[in-house]
Amino acid sequence: MEIHRVAAFSDNYIFVLHDIAQGQAAVVDPGDAEPVLQTLKELGATLTAIFNTHHHSDHVGGNRQLLERFPQAQVYGGAEDRGRIPGQTHFLQEGDWVQICDRQAEVIFVPGHTYAHIAYYLAPATPNDWGELFCGDTLFAGGCGRLFEGTPQQMVESLGKLRQLPDTTRVWCAHEYTLSNLKFAVTVDGTNATLQQRLKQVQAARAQDQPTVPTELGLEKQTNPFLRWDQASLQQAMNSTSTVQTFARLRGKKDLF
Ligand code: ZN
Ligand code: FE
Repeated sequence: MEIHRVAAFSDNYIFVLHDIAQGQAAVVDPGDAEPVLQTLKELGATLTAIFNTHHHSDHVGGNRQLLERFPQAQVYGGAEDRGRIPGQTHFLQEGDWVQICDRQAEVIFVPGHTYAHIAYYLAPATPNDWGELFCGDTLFAGGCGRLFEGTPQQMVESLGKLRQLPDTTRVWCAHEYTLSNLKFAVTVDGTNATLQQRLKQVQAARAQDQPTVPTELGLEKQTNPFLRWDQASLQQAMNSTSTVQTFARLRGKKDLF
């Protein structure tokens, strides 16, 4: 299976997963159909499945148009998103397994950004291979999603589940927010040398318009403040003693950044 990163709108990424042997493809969070149809055409692939992480229009806005072209395609989303995802045929819950191309994916329930948000984790095909995480607007490179429909407590639990995945997991998040996220991160975790080094790399990449997605979960664990709510340095910086309060204050500061 090949993963193709397709840019959409000003800063969204849509992912086209291509099963070359079968000539079939799946798509994750098609906010816009046009760039997906273009990619499918270039690949000569038939769309068999749409996987949505949550109901926001920049993630599901292309569902209908894709279904017009590929009426047989199945549409997967969270059980609690019933009624909010156009064309949804499969209603997924924590711990469900779904076939994505030639891989098995585990469904992880990650409420916080929305109350129904799910992520898809593709375990490595072989022990030394990468795992792949499609996490929508829950975990970003260097940051996390805003809390539109959830509480800090929920988001800490959701990000905590993602943090338990292996370091060798590629994180395919849905927006190119990395530079702004890392600029914020250094204001709260300024003594973190790995973070400073990462900010420099990302500044150089973005100056040349290069994407910073996917990122690696191991690097996120070391540099993303929204996975580091239990680090003493961050708790101190947020003048907080509890993990949830540290997270809540970080998220509040980022909302104003
Ligand atoms: Zn969203
Ligand atoms: Fe989004």
